[in-house]
Amino acid sequence: MGLTKGSVGKNAVDTGLEIRRRSPDDRVVALAGNPNVGKSTVFNALTGMNQHTGNWPGKTVTNAQGYCKTNQHGYVLVDIPGTYSLFAHSAEEEVARNFICFGDADAVIVVCDASCIERNLNLVLQIMESGARVVVCVNLMDEAKRKKISVDLTLLSQRLGVPVVGTVAKKKRTLKELVAALDQTIDTPQRREPMHIPYPDAVERALALPEAVLERGNLGRLESRWLSLRLLDCDKALTRELSTYLGTEFLRDEELCKAVDEAWEVLAENGIDSEALKDLLAEAAVCHAEKLCRGAVVYGTPTQYSALDRRLDKILTGKVTAYPVMLLLLVLIFWLTVTVSNIPSGWLSDVGFWMLERLSEGLYAIGAPPWLEGVLVDGVLRVLVWVVSVMLPPMAIFFPLFTLLEDAGYLPRVAYNLDRPFHRCNACGKQALTMCMGFGCNAAGIVGCRIIDSPRERLLAILTNSFVPCNGRFPALIAVLTMFFIGFSGGFIGSVTAALLLTAIILFGILATFAVTKLLSVTLLRGEASSFTLELPSYRRPQVGKVLVRSIFDRTLFVLGRSVAVAAPAGLVIWLLANVTVGDMTLLSHTAAFLDPFARLMGLDGVILLAFILGFPANEIVIPIMLMAYLSNGTLTDLSSLAATKDILVANGWTWATAVCVLIFFLFHWPCSTTLLTVKKETGSLKWTALAALIPTLLGIVLCILFTAIVKIIAF
Ligand code: GDP
Repeated sequence: MGLTKGSVGKNAVDTGLEIRRRSPDDRVVALAGNPNVGKSTVFNALTGMNQHTGNWPGKTVTNAQGYCKTNQHGYVLVDIPGTYSLFAHSAEEEVARNFICFGDADAVIVVCDASCIERNLNLVLQIMESGARVVVCVNLMDEAKRKKISVDLTLLSQRLGVPVVGTVAKKKRTLKELVAALDQTIDTPQRREPMHIPYPDAVERALALPEAVLERGNLGRLESRWLSLRLLDCDKALTRELSTYLGTEFLRDEELCKAVDEAWEVLAENGIDSEALKDLLAEAAVCHAEKLCRGAVVYGTPTQYSALDRRLDKILTGKVTAYPVMLLLLVLIFWLTVTVSNIPSGWLSDVGFWMLERLSEGLYAIGAPPWLEGVLVDGVLRVLVWVVSVMLPPMAIFFPLFTLLEDAGYLPRVAYNLDRPFHRCNACGKQALTMCMGFGCNAAGIVGCRIIDSPRERLLAILTNSFVPCNGRFPALIAVLTMFFIGFSGGFIGSVTAALLLTAIILFGILATFAVTKLLSVTLLRGEASSFTLELPSYRRPQVGKVLVRSIFDRTLFVLGRSVAVAAPAGLVIWLLANVTVGDMTLLSHTAAFLDPFARLMGLDGVILLAFILGFPANEIVIPIMLMAYLSNGTLTDLSSLAATKDILVANGWTWATAVCVLIFFLFHWPCSTTLLTVKKETGSLKWTALAALIPTLLGIVLCILFTAIVKIIAF
């Protein structure tokens, strides 16, 4: 038998992660859990500001490490991806499994949702079975209480043989006991017996054969029973990791291979093939979890138990009501965005332009050269004020509203509702979620596509993500709509019309998403839709304060900062283009004139197309660039209100039809540079990146040309 100590390459599997210890005595603790159980909240509460985020090497899966100090120890907490199981195939699950099985962790805290412990125990049992030291953190105890679910933590702990602690992660003080349990686990010298899930007789008999051989070898931190199970259920990816960890020779050991063959004979005699074995193992785990919970988790009367959730689900995911409610919510969000943002928009614009006037006077007073005022005030700063006053308020309102829906648990319901239409397009229902993320920022939506397991379906979602306008485009859409289709009288009717029109535009984008997804799935990306399990989490009262802070700081200021950073140099470029003359025309006029014939075909003009091209770094600056370009050629300089802005546009030949074409092109054109870079990073392919730019651009051009042709025919 070749299973000697020397054949074991402990820790040889490259989980690739550099653990950032502060002292050599620091312990490493992995934080695991199903998605949406409050794992990040626990992580943040325990580590505070002591965090470091990055990617798992070689994977597009985010990794966070944090530091936490107790009286006894210093801990490096590694937040591993949220997963339901260690044995599925997404990148997240592989990362989680590799770190737990082969990584450096001294213990694993498994965070569970108190309202559905039984289902969460599946992961707990899998991790315990692998031999890891586990502390179970039963989080969301407050929600369980609300749903009249009582959890006997002591009984569960006795049955599982590991510490089980109840927490409400949002309240930091409830985590004290968790930390104490962790210290205690780390300080307990002897390793507890690994969890034994009882399997059917035939499986147990088969299992015992390789196990007997394995027990004689050095398996590093792995358990012989667990390893024996893995050798039988022959997961390809895992077998690869195992042969790295244990050494290639280890798994080829003659005696071991013979034992595995004999085990398969036992299974075959009992009519169990590889698929049936997987089912039996899963079933046994479910039954065991059920047994462990019996009497330890008690549900209140069925009418009390999540009655509100069920009633809400009946409306929000019901056959008849789901779509109208989705639509209504969309209109409501847009209405609030349009109505509320008008007010701060006015203030910001008044203050901004007042300051610009003072600055102009100041420059005049000190005798500054006119070109300086031209570049600084008329070029760069005027555009900055426009960006801040017109772009910031809608973003600052839309982002938090959307995040509130996300935090309340509505977005997974949207994915559930849209699963069927996406399935009809041979795509995955989770694409609805990534589409929703795209509303915030397309780059974020594209990163979000990692939740889709099938590479084909992920590509479909990535290529169509920019069909929903991001926050850089929303305010521009609202501005054009307001100027040309709603008027400035405001009032309830005006704002409702704006919201309805905006909804119609978004629906158009969603429709295009479906159409192009379908088209791609029968041409370039042919294939059948896969099925997936989507957990509908309980509804939660959103944490308004946190949402506000998160959406204002993380998103709004980020987007605004980016557009300001891009708008200033763009202002400079435009100023140069408008002031450097070649022959008898400025460079700007030359470029615009060059683009003009094609742009006219699309119902635009050369300046508009140029603005879209120069707006490649960030969509927020497209309209400001147009205005800058018009202003640098023209005489009108008043930009202080949307009405004045409209005057400038009309003076430069805009009609309602131009506005429609601009709206269409805003919805469908190349994604911004950040988004395209993200596509390149996520797909690793120039071809798909080029297609991600080409598809919406072609669609936009074709639609604009068609619309313009129709308008011309009708007018004629
Ligand atoms: P993760 O996906 O597991 O990382 O979950 P998060 O930490 O992002 O939490 C999901 C949501 O649950 C967030 O809105 C949290 O604020 C909320 N949450 C987390 N822990 C608790 C808790 O103990 N009680 C309640 N009511 N909400 C919680």
